[in-house]
Amino acid sequence: MIISVVSGKGGAGKTTIATSLAHIFQADYYDLDVDAPNGEYFLQPENETIRAVSQQQPEINESLCSACGVCTKECRFNALYKVANHIYLTETLCHSCNLCREVCPEGAISYKQASIGKVRTGHSGKTGARTIIGDLDIGSTRGTALIQDIVQRIDSPGTVVIDGPPGNSCAAVAAIKPADLVVLVAEPTPFGIHDMLQTLDILKDLQKSVVIIANKSQGDEQLTSVLAERGLKLAASIPLKTEHHKALLNGEILSQSDQQICRLLQQAVAAEIDKP
Ligand code: SF4
Ligand code: SF4
Repeated sequence: MIISVVSGKGGAGKTTIATSLAHIFQADYYDLDVDAPNGEYFLQPENETIRAVSQQQPEINESLCSACGVCTKECRFNALYKVANHIYLTETLCHSCNLCREVCPEGAISYKQASIGKVRTGHSGKTGARTIIGDLDIGSTRGTALIQDIVQRIDSPGTVVIDGPPGNSCAAVAAIKPADLVVLVAEPTPFGIHDMLQTLDILKDLQKSVVIIANKSQGDEQLTSVLAERGLKLAASIPLKTEHHKALLNGEILSQSDQQICRLLQQAVAAEIDKP
């Protein structure tokens, strides 16, 4: 069972819920918030091994290039451009699609491996289960590729909790795709509800089962009414509490520091897991 925890809005409490679910279900924790992976502050991984991740990147052989410009026209990401009969690559725009090499009439394009990030694998000092943490290289725009690389290698025999990236971009979709169940963390504010609705559209397109949990709640009326319009309802609501902030600032997993929240989350998600 793969559970992906996502939230349209950043800062909604996705990592708070994901680390709690990893604790509750003794699950392997995949941190796919690769721009800023911070689940480790709560799970405290030990004995990590590191795997480097790279991607192909085109390289132009100037002695073979006739400066015909075919590659610059065909690249739909505008990653290649021509100046004074020289072809240049904007690395951050390249998606390693291989098309330029295919269309080059002179065979002037080859590929080199370029680093995009690394994956650290260890065991949580708190839950004992595995932690797999994606770390995107600083300045790299290949977050989606790094997530896809990690997702393709999921090999955990038991329950997996994926802590996805915030937002509703390709990176978030890459973290949602492998899920058997999506836990959507919603902040009950106008901004949070707006972004949650975008995520729900994605989940509908991908035909994913969803459990919706309100976090930092000071009242869920607007949220529940918006969900009711879509035939959905909240599975749990976590109130905004100073004690929770203090626990998180101390690096505590919320479900470990608050037994009531632990039961609430366990019931909300287990009910969905147990469905036939
Ligand atoms: S590999 Fe694809 S995205 Fe990158 S430069 Fe070539 S055509 Fe453009
Ligand atoms: S398609 Fe090949 S020959 Fe033409 S400009 Fe690009 S690299 Fe040079």
